[in-house]
Amino acid sequence: MRVEIVAVGTELLLGQIADTNSQWLGEQLAAHGISSHYHQHVGDNHDRIVLVLRTALARSDAVIVCGGLGPTQDDITREAIAEVMNVPLERDESQIERIGAFFRARGRTMPPNNLRQADVPRGATVILQARGTAPGLICPLGTKVAYLLPGVPYEMSDMFERAVLPDLLARERATGRRATIVSRVLRTWGASESALADSVATRFSALEGDDRLTIAFLASGIEGIKVRITARGDDEAHARDLLGAEEGRVRAAIAERLGDIVFGVDAQTMETVVADRLVARGLSLAVAESLTGGLIASRLVNVPGASAWFRGGVVSYATAVKHDVLDVPEGPVVSEPAARAMASGVRRLLGADVALAVTGVAGPEEQDGQPVGTVVVGLDDGHDVTARTLQLAGDRPRIRAYAAISALDVLRRALDRSGA
Ligand code: ATP
Ligand code: MG
Repeated sequence: MRVEIVAVGTELLLGQIADTNSQWLGEQLAAHGISSHYHQHVGDNHDRIVLVLRTALARSDAVIVCGGLGPTQDDITREAIAEVMNVPLERDESQIERIGAFFRARGRTMPPNNLRQADVPRGATVILQARGTAPGLICPLGTKVAYLLPGVPYEMSDMFERAVLPDLLARERATGRRATIVSRVLRTWGASESALADSVATRFSALEGDDRLTIAFLASGIEGIKVRITARGDDEAHARDLLGAEEGRVRAAIAERLGDIVFGVDAQTMETVVADRLVARGLSLAVAESLTGGLIASRLVNVPGASAWFRGGVVSYATAVKHDVLDVPEGPVVSEPAARAMASGVRRLLGADVALAVTGVAGPEEQDGQPVGTVVVGLDDGHDVTARTLQLAGDRPRIRAYAAISALDVLRRALDRSGA
């Protein structure tokens, strides 16, 4: 069963509003294992809506149309579908009564324009409105179907859940081709998109022509690159088996080429992963930050329950503060000895089991002969004190943001190694 989504509204074409309806509908269809191959946008123009509907119905089994069911002259989706169905519009008395009641309940009289919302193409059924005035419509077209929903997002989603989804699922069951789609997102940090693509190239070619499994990349800016694996099975258990097996193969392919770059899955973030490791091991954490100026601490306290394991942080931005508060010895402050001393200093000062420190050059000028983007991460885990120098690219905000997530990644890897 292929479902196509059509969003109607000139404001969508002009970029005045974002089409969150199609996005939401796409998500819902995927979550219920219903294929959706096309989304269309069209303005409030009768002939073009008719063309778009005919196109959709020629290649898809069902069409969900949202928008243009309102009372104003530019709301013409009803007229367009009636033309496609080749039937007249008939005014539905019970809808007139219901829309009238909506206005009476608000102490208003119904404007005559709203009568148009009671027009129903012959043969269509009404989806009752629970939240506004425009009823939705289920319009049969031979073995195919068009669902007309209002453009207002909460009216649209209510009708989708109440009437459209049950109807779609019943149609799929009737064809005996009900499938379930499940997916898993692998979150990676530290590899370029092309390196990542290379590492799973063998999986891409193995899956060519296989419509049960797909792999996709989603670059997520400073949060790394996501790899989404989607599996389609006859039922939930079958889909999960397919997904689990493919996830194992993809992880192995990535690890072989790029090492331990998968830091989490699905909704996990670098900080929730670090938090989980710390909680599991019963360890507390402190941070000393220079160029990140509190970005790391801010990410950590975003995690609910952070007070159980996060002691706090010191923003030792000025060199004097590094010396006076954290006992960093004289010498260049963007250096491995300085990063180690910052970590040990803040660990002692705040009484934590583990401490992370970061110092570096965010730019625009170089510092102590170190180029912009030089970032040193120090780590004191109570046994060993180590430091790593990284070279990060970008402008000042980017380098600071990269430095924060990179430092957390250094900690994540260290916790994984020592916990093994
Ligand atoms: P109404 O009865 O309110 O006129 P309608 O079915 O005619 O509803 P539209 O007039 O197309 O729907 O849209 C009403 C409002 O709903 C728009 O102003 C916009 O705020 C929102 N909307 C419409 N389409 C979308 C969409 N695709 N994504 C997000 N919001 C939308
Ligand atoms: Mg409208």
